[in-house]
Amino acid sequence: MGLLSEGSPLTWEETKKYSQHVRDHGIIQFINLYKRLRDRQGDVLKWGDEVEYIIVKFDDEKKIAKVSLRAKEILAKLNEKEQADPLSCKSLWRPEYGAYMIEGTPGKPYGGLLAHFNIVEANMKLRREEASQLLADDECIISLTSFPRLGCENFTDPPTYPTPEEGYTRSLFFPDDAIFPGHPRFKNLSRNIRQRRGEKVAINIPIFRDKNTVIPVDDSYKYSKAALPDHVYMDAMGFGMGCCCLQMTFQACNITEARTLYDQLTPLCPIMLAFTAASPVHRGFLTDVDCRWSIIASSVDCRTEEERGLKPLKENKFVIKKSRYDSIDSYLSPQGEKFNDIPLIYDPDVYQKLRDNDIDHLLALHIAHLFIRDSVSLFSEKINQNDEEDTDHFENIQSTNWQTMRFKPPPPNSTIGWRVEFRPCEVQVTDFENAAIVCFVVLLTRVILSYQLDFLIPISKVDENMVNAQKKNACVEGRFWFRKDITTQVSPPKASEVCQTSKNEQDICDSYALMTVNEIINGKEGEFPGLIPLINNYLSGMDVDADTHCTIQQYLKFIQRRASGEILTTASWIRKFVVEHPEYKQDSKVTNRINYDLLKTIDAVQSGKIQCPELLGTSVISKTRENIPAALTKESCA
Ligand code: ADP
Ligand code: MG
Ligand code: MG
Repeated sequence: MGLLSEGSPLTWEETKKYSQHVRDHGIIQFINLYKRLRDRQGDVLKWGDEVEYIIVKFDDEKKIAKVSLRAKEILAKLNEKEQADPLSCKSLWRPEYGAYMIEGTPGKPYGGLLAHFNIVEANMKLRREEASQLLADDECIISLTSFPRLGCENFTDPPTYPTPEEGYTRSLFFPDDAIFPGHPRFKNLSRNIRQRRGEKVAINIPIFRDKNTVIPVDDSYKYSKAALPDHVYMDAMGFGMGCCCLQMTFQACNITEARTLYDQLTPLCPIMLAFTAASPVHRGFLTDVDCRWSIIASSVDCRTEEERGLKPLKENKFVIKKSRYDSIDSYLSPQGEKFNDIPLIYDPDVYQKLRDNDIDHLLALHIAHLFIRDSVSLFSEKINQNDEEDTDHFENIQSTNWQTMRFKPPPPNSTIGWRVEFRPCEVQVTDFENAAIVCFVVLLTRVILSYQLDFLIPISKVDENMVNAQKKNACVEGRFWFRKDITTQVSPPKASEVCQTSKNEQDICDSYALMTVNEIINGKEGEFPGLIPLINNYLSGMDVDADTHCTIQQYLKFIQRRASGEILTTASWIRKFVVEHPEYKQDSKVTNRINYDLLKTIDAVQSGKIQCPELLGTSVISKTRENIPAALTKESCA
């Protein structure tokens, strides 16, 4: 996320009073921004990754690993370079939700040259080294989606304690002191979400039932009516927002291309979620899911009982199906319209206002849908704004709709264009894997645009895929709705057919089928070309130097192997590590010792001290180029 603005947070009661104010001005700000920037043309591909890390502290005598709550201290140092020389630093560092988390991005975005793929991994390594240099000998940073014993007794260093009766979170497990202390936003969000909802958030994840697994899982159910006895129960924003992910942002040449990319990447979200699955352990238990997604969704679910449909609407305007953190509900491009098949909840007044200002139906729907939410974090300094220039109220709602894709308008007074953010991926243990995934998705965007590929399926099917993507071993065993013929678009109904909706629906129905991740990525003889073969085909028509070719092929090979099941997802690898650990008692419990050994192993794998062919394959030649070729550091745009 961008640099956080400082200020004094309002209480929930105050924030609530301003919720219509924020919406009203947010919409005016969007309208003004849109009028200024709708015709902006000629931006070039730029893109960047975001990687989140956990700071871990090892006690090698007691064999215990904890999260180290030193992010604030370490970030202060990491930010010095940027403060001294914002234009030429090679990395940017930002706070994240956890007091044990940091987020790193490249110093500036990459450009359209394929040769940039050579420096992605090197930059990730550089970031890791930069942060590692500031750590104590017994600390390390790991890019792991969830800390396996988050919320277990004594999981932080220094020790902190949950405060179920008071404070921001009131969790039985997650202390307020484990929330990033350097900016009030995070604690404030936690409190406001809880207060808006009317109770603590409730996260229940089915336990992985092993031979000796005891049900009830623990005695949470005695303390909370929300806890399900055969589930791992969690009750704090930190369990979700305290997870790490891998995100990518792409700049499009104009708003139309951004809308196309937003739509076309949407069906890939569940596929990439299953592919990057990396979080099977939560609060010290092996669970039956492989991904963080539903956990984060519940961890910030601020819907009231009325909005959740548990009580008739009285105070609130809408019954809302999803948390503000979830998969998107509508496509944005003209091709997408006929695939928007779930009833979209949107604010009709907002919609009308946007339409009155010449904003088209689909974009108006999208914004009016985001604006069904209240602000859950407002700072007194930001209440009154200049709607001609500021966009804070718009961003307030936009940036707390945490969805699989984000459609990002250009920031005010900047050289940045229309962008989309791809947000589903779980972060991987090594820089190699993260770089491979980033390069794969960037290449996909090029292939989609060059070949005008069409991945669209009904949005309800994308939602089904999101559910299936999180299941255990979905990357190998899951079957996902995917478009059969991605090279031809389902033709829009002809004028004479307008009334024959059934024919149109039939066409849509015939256009997708169930496929495995392997079939989607590697292809299926005679039926589906496969994403990697398409990328290779695209590359074969390009002039690629040997070095870049080698880098890209290494990454694509890795993607192919994981998709085919030849190597494991991080989640499967973690499961295997746990169940094969000598201390594991087939009881689903990830003890301190198992956790310690797992994290030590992860640290050794990411630093290259040990090989891990199960996870990475055998032929990984890791690149550690220190110096980025000068030609590549220019603002290039092929
Ligand atoms: P967020 O919306 O997630 O807070 P930011 O707006 O801070 O993210 O952008 C973060 C990501 O966007 C980084 O990966 C960064 O490299 C990338 N980025 C920065 N400028 C551009 C640009 N002009 N086009 C595309 N990506 C960009
Ligand atoms: Mg982040
Ligand atoms: Mg982001």
